[in-house]
Amino acid sequence: MRVILLTLAMAWLSFADRTIAQSDAHLEIGGGKIDLTFSSAPDEALRKLALAWVASSARAVTVYYEQFPVSHLEIRLRFFEGHGVRGGRTTGRDGALITVAIGRSSSASDFAEDWVLTHEMVHLAFPSVPEEHHWIEEGSATYVEPIARARAGGLTPEKVWGDLIDGLPKGLPQAGDRGLDFTRTWGRTYWGGALFCLLADIEIRKRTGNKKGLEDALRAILKAGGTIESDWPIVRSLEIGDRGTGVSVLRELYEKMKAAPTPADLSALWKELGVERGGGKIEFIDGAPLASIRKAITQPVSR
Ligand SMILES: [Zn+2]
Repeated sequence: MRVILLTLAMAWLSFADRTIAQSDAHLEIGGGKIDLTFSSAPDEALRKLALAWVASSARAVTVYYEQFPVSHLEIRLRFFEGHGVRGGRTTGRDGALITVAIGRSSSASDFAEDWVLTHEMVHLAFPSVPEEHHWIEEGSATYVEPIARARAGGLTPEKVWGDLIDGLPKGLPQAGDRGLDFTRTWGRTYWGGALFCLLADIEIRKRTGNKKGLEDALRAILKAGGTIESDWPIVRSLEIGDRGTGVSVLRELYEKMKAAPTPADLSALWKELGVERGGGKIEFIDGAPLASIRKAITQPVSR
């Protein structure tokens, strides 16, 4: 994998208190500028933790896409009593904006465990699509977020694959479900969409001798200007994505999954990839037929 030069956020970090009630911060990473606004002034320790969390989330998506998805992002942070991260939301109507809430008692480990901000930043990297295709927006964010964090060194491959084993069954079609464009339940939207992405990733790698993956399709979409700030028909994204890999996997899989329920044999898939859960622990079997594909998906980047 190409080693990319990251403009680490910490290299250019400045703070300026505009008013007593509000602190602002600015950082640059992967060619993108991020402006942060706090709804009220946090104490210094929390502000430092929050900035490091924004930087590491931005770094994860920058590793995956080889650039930060948008040239400018505004993040509005608000607070609640307690700890953790809640209520992320991303829009691109008047420029890219993420709103999210953090607990005032959050520790470094609360931020390290958080998936919400990386998920929201993945949303920046895909064009807005009409409502019936919402599954591609949520599915790609659900699928890419842990992989991006693993590649950046923030999650172990065991954690990523264990969570896929737990999560993906929720995306399988239930009785009466139709294709992804026609069944808009939570499970089909988030995990059905994630299943589409995993199946696409594996098939692209099979057809290209593991030289290309879903990230090449998603990077091509982003390079063509397909960010959350643009409204594209889904087929345009898929076509550009396919051009990025040289194989027409996204269009073919979409034709198959858009209107028909398409069950998947996940147990067989885990066997092929060489992922097993033994005694509550994830184990990898390197002799499995698709072990090299599994490794390529969650491999940390060398820096
Ligand atoms: Zn989302």
